[in-house]
Amino acid sequence: MNKKYTDLLDFDKNHVWHPYTSMSSPLPSYLVDSAEGVHIKLASGETLIDGMSSWWSVLHGYNHPKLNAALVEQSTKMSHVMFGGLTHQSAIDLCEKLIRLTPQGLDKVFLSDSGSVSVEVAMKMALQYWQSKEGQNKSNNSKTKLLTVRNGYHGDTFAAMSVCDPVTGMHQIFEQVLMKSYFAPAPTIEFNQAWQPKDTEALAALFEQHHNELAAFIIEPIVQGTGGMRFYHPQYLKACRKLCDQYDVLMIVDEIATGFGRTGKLFACEWAEISPDIMCLGKTLTGGYITLAATLCTEEIATTISNGEAGCFMHGPTFMGNALACAVANASIELLFENNWQQQVSVIEQALQGLLTPLARHERVKDARVLGTIGAVECLNSVNVATIQKRFVELGVWIRPFGKLIYIIPPLIINTEQLVSLVNAIATVLDEDACFLID
Ligand SMILES: *Cc1c(COP(=O)(O)O)cnc(C)c1O
Repeated sequence: MNKKYTDLLDFDKNHVWHPYTSMSSPLPSYLVDSAEGVHIKLASGETLIDGMSSWWSVLHGYNHPKLNAALVEQSTKMSHVMFGGLTHQSAIDLCEKLIRLTPQGLDKVFLSDSGSVSVEVAMKMALQYWQSKEGQNKSNNSKTKLLTVRNGYHGDTFAAMSVCDPVTGMHQIFEQVLMKSYFAPAPTIEFNQAWQPKDTEALAALFEQHHNELAAFIIEPIVQGTGGMRFYHPQYLKACRKLCDQYDVLMIVDEIATGFGRTGKLFACEWAEISPDIMCLGKTLTGGYITLAATLCTEEIATTISNGEAGCFMHGPTFMGNALACAVANASIELLFENNWQQQVSVIEQALQGLLTPLARHERVKDARVLGTIGAVECLNSVNVATIQKRFVELGVWIRPFGKLIYIIPPLIINTEQLVSLVNAIATVLDEDACFLID
């Protein structure tokens, strides 16, 4: 690497925070020069096959001509205008698409900046809904708590953190300030196992005990992502919908990671044939180009909030409905259908079933599983992130494991040969002691 690059990396190391790593002795960062299709090109010269879709967000690959064109076209009109008092076609088109494509009943769209914010918005909507509704009878609003399941992940902002898994979700550090939520055990019956109704017994007991306090129940549909790449049974999600109805609790489904085809359905809710009352979308929404998120809700929620004391929903981000983000989101959703996403996902799923699931027999592996475009290898030991990352780069792939999980979630345009390279790289590091911690 030439001097310019080493200077850049030195500055980065000394002054730029990176996620979940120390500022005083950070994990190494690799300098990216450009990315195209499924390839990330490092300044040091290597070209890596991308197995991560930049944290689940890239759908159609990097530097896509159609997505680039959508951005350029929008930027020649305007990149952004405030959403208070103004609106524009890109936002309107996007909201029309989201209403049409998401499960029935989600007819009102609130656009925001990121996944975590869309979760904040969802929780605030649920709280304001009950406040507006119960305020009308002048009784005190008691539905102010959230219920969720363990192993969940919903974002890093404060309200979102309060419904993340209490053990892995930083609750100890922020205990003093976090909202108190109720936690049911995580679903245990896996996606392909025989369903057993007892899996929701503890959850049902919490609904029964606390429903008077519960504004909403929140869950990631079918896939608990950051909480361990756990694929749970659709009947569990169906039971959640029933319990929410039975106990008059709003159901929030966080489709930020699962939306837009990732699990083999356009939205993971479809596996259980349910519609939530509130749905969060993010990550792939713009095909991985710009941060954008959406919270959809029912007509009833929107009307109740609007008839409440405040007369409106109390939220309004500066960059709400950003035109560049909406334009590229529209183009990304169009590409999904032009490219026949179902076919793309099923090719990836079949290839991963054949290539990745056999890794379950490796002595270091506890389980290897595949759903849609998600392939996860759960190891018996935690990975040594710095070492394993360096090895993956040497092997020509970009895979970023965490904890005991080595997982891939490639862009939909990846071909079989490239999938073979990703899985071979995983198989190679599994044989290397230095890539794992002894714990
Ligand atoms: C990534 C993620 C979030 C948070 O989204 P950000 O854009 O990182 O704020 C929330 N929920 C789920 C399920 C996610 O995977």
